[in-house]
Amino acid sequence: MLIDSHCHVLSSEYDNVDEIIKDSINSGVEKIIVNGYDLKTSKEAVELANKYDHVYAAVGIGPSNVTDVNDETYDIISKLAKEAKVVAIGEVGLDYYWNNENIGLQRRAFRKQILIANLYGLPIVIHTREAVMDTLKMLKEHMVIKKGVFHCCPLNRELVKEALKLGFYISFAGPVTFKNAKNADEVIDMVPLDRMLIETDSPYLAPEPNRGKRNDSRNIKYIAEKIANVKQISLEEISKITYDNACNVFEIKN
Ligand SMILES: [Zn+2]
Repeated sequence: MLIDSHCHVLSSEYDNVDEIIKDSINSGVEKIIVNGYDLKTSKEAVELANKYDHVYAAVGIGPSNVTDVNDETYDIISKLAKEAKVVAIGEVGLDYYWNNENIGLQRRAFRKQILIANLYGLPIVIHTREAVMDTLKMLKEHMVIKKGVFHCCPLNRELVKEALKLGFYISFAGPVTFKNAKNADEVIDMVPLDRMLIETDSPYLAPEPNRGKRNDSRNIKYIAEKIANVKQISLEEISKITYDNACNVFEIKN
C-alpha cells in the first residue's frame, strides 16, 4: 500500500506516460498524485486523473513559471480546481535559487493561488527553495484554510519546525536517501508520523540506489524504506501511515 504523493508524469518527460502509470500501479503503487507547474502541465495532470482511477491531480503555477501569467491564467487554474479529481493547488511557492529577479511576481502568484485554494477549500502543495523565510512569512500573512504539504521538503530544521507549527504536512523525496544528505535522519526524526508524506517528485531526483537515472513512481519504495529505517518501524507500517496521511490531507477516499 503505497502512494506517490507528488510527481510529474508528463508527456514531455516520458515516451509513454500510460505505460509508466500502468507499471507503477502493477508494482504496488496504489495512488499517484500528478502535479502541474504551469497551465499546460496542470491541464495534462487533470486529463490523466480523469483517465485513471488511481491518479489524482494538483493544478497550479509554480514559482519558476510566473513570468507570463495574467488574470486569464488564474481563471483557468480556478476552472481546473473545480474538477472532481483535483485534490490540491500546486505546485506553488517561491524559488529564489532558479530566479531571484522576479521575486515580486513569484509572491503575487503564490498569494493569488492561496486565494484560489481557499475559495475551493483545497490544500496547497508548496515548493520552496532558497526562500524559506519568505515562504513562512507569506503563509503567516495569508492563512491557508485547508493547509497542505511542503513537497520535497528542504532538509532545514527551522523550516520543518515552523511548517509543523503552521499545521502543514512534510513530504520527503529522493534527497533523504542520498549519501551526502547530512541531516536527513535528524530532520526525518523531527516529523511526527501523522504529519509525514512521501513522494518521488519524478522524473527528477531519483532516490538511491537509482540516483542519477530517470525517476518514476516505482521508486517510492526506496523513500519509504529510508523513513522506516530512521523511525525504526516496518516498511508496511510507514507505507500505510503515509498512505492514510495523503488520503487525509488531499481528502481522497481510501
Ligand atoms: Zn514537483
